[in-house]
Amino acid sequence: MKEHLGIGMTSQRTRDRLIVHLQELGIKDQRVLSMMRKIPRHLFVAEALASRAYENSSLPIGHGQTISQPYMVARMTELLIEDGIPENVLEVGTGSGYQSSVLASLIPRVFSVERIRPLQEQAKKVLSDVGFRNINFKHSDGGWGWNACGPYDGILAAAAPAEIPVKLLEQLTVGAKLIIPVGEEGHQVLQRVTRTELAYEVETIEPVSFVPFLKGRV
Ligand code: SAH
Repeated sequence: MKEHLGIGMTSQRTRDRLIVHLQELGIKDQRVLSMMRKIPRHLFVAEALASRAYENSSLPIGHGQTISQPYMVARMTELLIEDGIPENVLEVGTGSGYQSSVLASLIPRVFSVERIRPLQEQAKKVLSDVGFRNINFKHSDGGWGWNACGPYDGILAAAAPAEIPVKLLEQLTVGAKLIIPVGEEGHQVLQRVTRTELAYEVETIEPVSFVPFLKGRV
């Protein structure tokens, strides 16, 4: 019996192998690695894909969207918390809720915006089943941010706009970081923007491939 339940493609051993792989790819933050070692990513994808949940790949979650690649989730989180754990974070693009769970396991308060209602509903359910109580959800176009709950010590976007939405910049506290993929399909780069007293400092991190940042909500 145990063979079937505990030692399959979704077992702790399989998850541990993913963590080793992430380290080989350059992820260094032990806080991120230790949380990703615990979080059951297979619960965030359809059952038919559960056996592939601990591969380092993005996978379809319906509605033309994907659960982000584990490396990208780890890298973005690492970039966000490098100088300290933010008090609150705004996530744009809840999707499956997997990135939300990694954020919520490290950061006291997470605010997550998604424009596709059924994805948001599914993510809410899984995150509640897994036991997260520190995530607030909003069905909205994240291009507006979520002003009522901000400003934020960090913002992370999982979809790529052609240009960074001004509202997101405005909702950063001084010292806060925005982690966001920017650019048209095939030409995207990951950027980290740090708000200072007088300006926004932009670092370009690496080439990436994300779904587009779309307007409106459905
Ligand atoms: N981190 C998520 C990534 C999902 S893919 C995960 O690992 O599952 C990116 C998500 O961003 C999609 O669900 C898409 O619907 C959403 N998205 C795209 N543009 C958006 C916008 N303007 N506002 C809110 N969500 C958006």
